[in-house]
Amino acid sequence: FITELEKLRDLPAETLDGTRIEIYGNIEFPHEAALCLQNGAEGIGLYRTEFLYLGRNDLPSEEDHYQAYCEVVRIMGDRPVTIRTFDLGADKVPLQLGLEKEANPCLGLRSIRLALRYLPLFQTQLRAILRASVCGNVQIMFPMISTLAELRQAKLMLAEVMEDLAESRIPFRRDIPLGIMVEVPSVAVTIDRFLDEVDFISLGTNDLIQYTLAVDRTNRNVVNMYNATEPAVLRLIHHVIQEASRKGVPVSLCGQMSSHPLHTMLLIGLGLRKFSVAAHSILEIKKVCRSVTVQQCEALAKRALEMDHARDVQALLREQLIKLI
Ligand code: PEP
Ligand code: MG
Repeated sequence: FITELEKLRDLPAETLDGTRIEIYGNIEFPHEAALCLQNGAEGIGLYRTEFLYLGRNDLPSEEDHYQAYCEVVRIMGDRPVTIRTFDLGADKVPLQLGLEKEANPCLGLRSIRLALRYLPLFQTQLRAILRASVCGNVQIMFPMISTLAELRQAKLMLAEVMEDLAESRIPFRRDIPLGIMVEVPSVAVTIDRFLDEVDFISLGTNDLIQYTLAVDRTNRNVVNMYNATEPAVLRLIHHVIQEASRKGVPVSLCGQMSSHPLHTMLLIGLGLRKFSVAAHSILEIKKVCRSVTVQQCEALAKRALEMDHARDVQALLREQLIKLI
């Protein structure tokens, strides 16, 4: 018994007018890669490695990291696997580190900031990623970068770890593609400068929405204000995609937003050609891609960008999606 959606598995995500859209999968645990592949994912666009640290009393060893990465690479074959360095802190707190409680954890010592403060932790992970880079098509991605200085510091760490490995004659890929998450407004606004220093970028809308609107995404008192279709958010996404396309740097969107079919036409219309979505959303998103033309999507995005309210954009998106089904 094969459902309508499952028939799409081996078909390309191509619009009616022949534009190819790429669909990648997001994972938190290695075994989820199998489900992504089963649903036709062309690669892993986001592997959230921080889950290696959660739910245990000790810290993962270099070997723990390496084994996990090799498992994903083995499942995905020669397809790209984007390993994001740990994004700990805020809602993903590693108890092992005994971190000080902060008043505003989302604005505090989290993610890449934590990595650059706890260097041995970061080095252990970088070593494992680099070692895994010779087993398949591995890419490395830094989360929550907020300044150019921070990106350069993280790149410096990567270069140092490469030197250590080279000295010990441990094989790794020196030209491993390097990317950043675009999830802090400071980076989205000045994206042209970052594009000169990375091989790819991925829009992390979960945090980008939170930081642009100053709305805590986990606070139920304000969750009604957390909205992907707010004009400021749409303009930022549009700007980032336009700049990346202009400079020929691959750009994907791996926040929750791309996993919801309501946003598919809008995102294509804003110029997005690479989606990274939850495993269970891959086929549904592909179905929408195959039911629309780029022209239709661009006309929709143009109207959305002219609107003043998130709810009006949502109503427009709903109306268009209903027409497709
Ligand atoms: C994001 O912020 O959109 C993202 C993908 O990162 P996470 O949800 O893991 O914070
Ligand atoms: Mg994030």
